[in-house]
Amino acid sequence: MIIPEDLKYQIKKNFKKGKVVSLTGAGISAESGIPTFRGKGGLWEKYDPEIFANTEGLISVLRNNPRSLANFITEFYSTLLSSQPNPAHLSLVELEKMGILSSIITQNIDNLHQESGSQNVIELHGNSFRIICMGCQKKACLNKERIKELLALIKKSWSSYISLLRIISRYFPKCKCGKRFRIDIVLFGELLPQDELSRAYKELDNCHTLLIIGSSLVVYPAAELPLYAKQRGARLIEINSQPSALSELCDYRIIGRASEIVPEVLNILKG
Ligand code: NAD
Repeated sequence: MIIPEDLKYQIKKNFKKGKVVSLTGAGISAESGIPTFRGKGGLWEKYDPEIFANTEGLISVLRNNPRSLANFITEFYSTLLSSQPNPAHLSLVELEKMGILSSIITQNIDNLHQESGSQNVIELHGNSFRIICMGCQKKACLNKERIKELLALIKKSWSSYISLLRIISRYFPKCKCGKRFRIDIVLFGELLPQDELSRAYKELDNCHTLLIIGSSLVVYPAAELPLYAKQRGARLIEINSQPSALSELCDYRIIGRASEIVPEVLNILKG
């Protein structure tokens, strides 16, 4: 048994309909096959985030080391393409259907909450399967089939800066407004989408319990959200395989794997 009896009692008592919000981070998707970026085998072990997680860095790699950029794009998207929602994502869908969970505020960019069927998902850091115009901010979908084509083309026909640039330009085209589309994720040093952030704060204004799953809570401003919720009277429950930076702030901490514990929370509420 992972969840102690007293906490089971608290979950039954405190999970009020429509009053639970979940804040999720990379840990919820770790068991879907997407390593946390900072964890063992994560992207930042191999690629320096100072270069590969900011626009200027990416442009300079394209010019100076296109092979490295080709490898990075391939690894980044191959991992996302081969991932599937796990029981933690699916349990959140059930909680939403039961009317208990009102929304998910996610720092993830993997689309797995939407893919599993969650409806009210607030994306603080964007989505890898979407592009955004750098001029008028128009958004468009970059679906899995298109990404598979992109990776196949990179594998088959890139050989230089110019050929890689041509391939990338095809999948990140120019908008009608004249500016170019880019991937719709928040890179280092960029502002979060303000509409999503406002929605997140609004959800927390009415939230009775904040269920934090798989986040180290070191990335700001997302890490401010638990404090905001707590100041408004919400109870904080943390599910993580190890303590986070804000574990001390939480009313309850459950140490363990999200894919085991979130389904157990669901069973408690169904029982
Ligand atoms: P993080 O990498 O800083 O922390 C991950 C947390 O998850 C850690 O505290 C770790 O202990 C915990 N964890 C790992 N495996 C777990 C499991 N199986 N069950 C429960 N907990 C587990 O992640 P973060 O706080 O989300 O911040 C990282 C940033 O990197 C975010 O901004 C996010 O956008 C991005 N990121 C996204 C993805 C994704 O979309 N799947 C993956 C990696 C990084």
